[in-house]
Amino acid sequence: MRTITLIIIHCSATREGTRYPFAKCRHDHIANRRFKDIGYHYYIDREGVIWTGRPEQEVGAHCRNHNKHSIGVCYEGGLDRQGRPKDTRTQAQKRAMEVLLSDLKERYPKALVLGHRDLNPGKDCPSFDVRSEL
Ligand SMILES: [Zn+2]
Repeated sequence: MRTITLIIIHCSATREGTRYPFAKCRHDHIANRRFKDIGYHYYIDREGVIWTGRPEQEVGAHCRNHNKHSIGVCYEGGLDRQGRPKDTRTQAQKRAMEVLLSDLKERYPKALVLGHRDLNPGKDCPSFDVRSEL
């Protein structure tokens, strides 16, 4: 069993009005970034569908220096039409994120929920303040 101390929230850095489906994300991670599978454990698309990526028991590839003990959750979006950071989550995505996080918190009660940028201040991801909201 992996010890999970962190649940890290990401955005896919996709512009408003543009789609970046789960299958495309997985394909890019495998074909372009040479990961063995999608780097995230969960992916929430604009409709609020929660896709299962890498199995929880496997180390992900989503946050440098913090993969070993974390679960990575990504939502589709995170940029405005000009490519600037923006919380673009739909109501369905917010609801899905709540459901997923309450499940994860139940199973990993000691894990902290943080945004990527809380661990890497050079990043804007996930374009909202996870600590104040979740
Ligand atoms: Zn990120």
